[in-house]
Amino acid sequence: MRMTVLASGSRGNSTVIASAQTRLLIDAGLSCRELLKRMALANEDPTALSAILITHEHQDHIAGLGVLARRLGIPVYLTEPTHRAWVRMLTPRTTMTYAQWLDHVQQEKQARAEAAAAQAITPTPAESIEEPAFDLAASTPASDPDEDDCDPSPSKPKADPTHLPAVEYFHSGTNFTIGDISITPFTIPHDAADPCGFVFESRTEQVRMAIATDLGYMPPNVKSALRGIDVLLLESNHDLEMLKDGPYPWSVKQRVLSRVGHLSNHATAEFLARDYDGGAHTIVLGHLSEQNNDPSLALLAAEQALAGRMSLLGNRIMLAQQAAPLPSISL
Ligand SMILES: [Zn+2]
Ligand SMILES: [Zn+2]
Repeated sequence: MRMTVLASGSRGNSTVIASAQTRLLIDAGLSCRELLKRMALANEDPTALSAILITHEHQDHIAGLGVLARRLGIPVYLTEPTHRAWVRMLTPRTTMTYAQWLDHVQQEKQARAEAAAAQAITPTPAESIEEPAFDLAASTPASDPDEDDCDPSPSKPKADPTHLPAVEYFHSGTNFTIGDISITPFTIPHDAADPCGFVFESRTEQVRMAIATDLGYMPPNVKSALRGIDVLLLESNHDLEMLKDGPYPWSVKQRVLSRVGHLSNHATAEFLARDYDGGAHTIVLGHLSEQNNDPSLALLAAEQALAGRMSLLGNRIMLAQQAAPLPSISL
């Protein structure tokens, strides 16, 4: 079984989890073009993917979702609240184009004229066409900027951005299976509709991998989900001092620090020192903030927490990156 982190951080997240028979993409938080580029760099064949799984609807986890799923023609697994939130984000306030609006105005004008004629009142002869009452820019369906070179049929009218080849709903806490990978989603505390992390288990290979990023704190259900994991992608988002002194507005700092924000290096270290069972082959620290963290600080905090337990065979620590894929971790 292997984990390939294609990207991790507040500008985009995506990871491949693969067994002998099944390959899954977890989150699609970069453009379709960039995701395909990263997969090529990491020797991951996108056409071999069986499905895309989504943790939550924040942009850094879903930016390329629609285009990539349509391009590859594969199903998307997510919870129903996450799906609804994503559709809402992509559905513009009005779906009317300017041509449709002109049509609509003409039809209304005709209806008024007919009503007036029915009452034997002469309609105003030169009724002017009003300007649209809505912002035309906002009425254009949101689409990925690289839709044209990623979508298989760019010559057709723009696809419905919310269209997915197939949608499968799961519930956090309820195990499901794709191919030979068994998946257990678990609820995480984060400011999204229904966010989750995942535990993946290859029954044939007896290996368990997990992804736990985007959490405000470590609740008991996450601590217990992360027992017996061989490869763990764990959030180590910010250094508390750097965040406090950093450039973010106060409200954003409060959000990051909140119980539904992100795990600090300190919180991650506390988990590793107190609650973690020590059984992982590799721990990948991920979702590092570029503004409010320094990879060396995240690494140091985790190393200190695991003092004495790190070796080549156990508790190796790696740092996931925003700009480039990590080498695959295979067990
Ligand atoms: Zn998030
Ligand atoms: Zn995120």
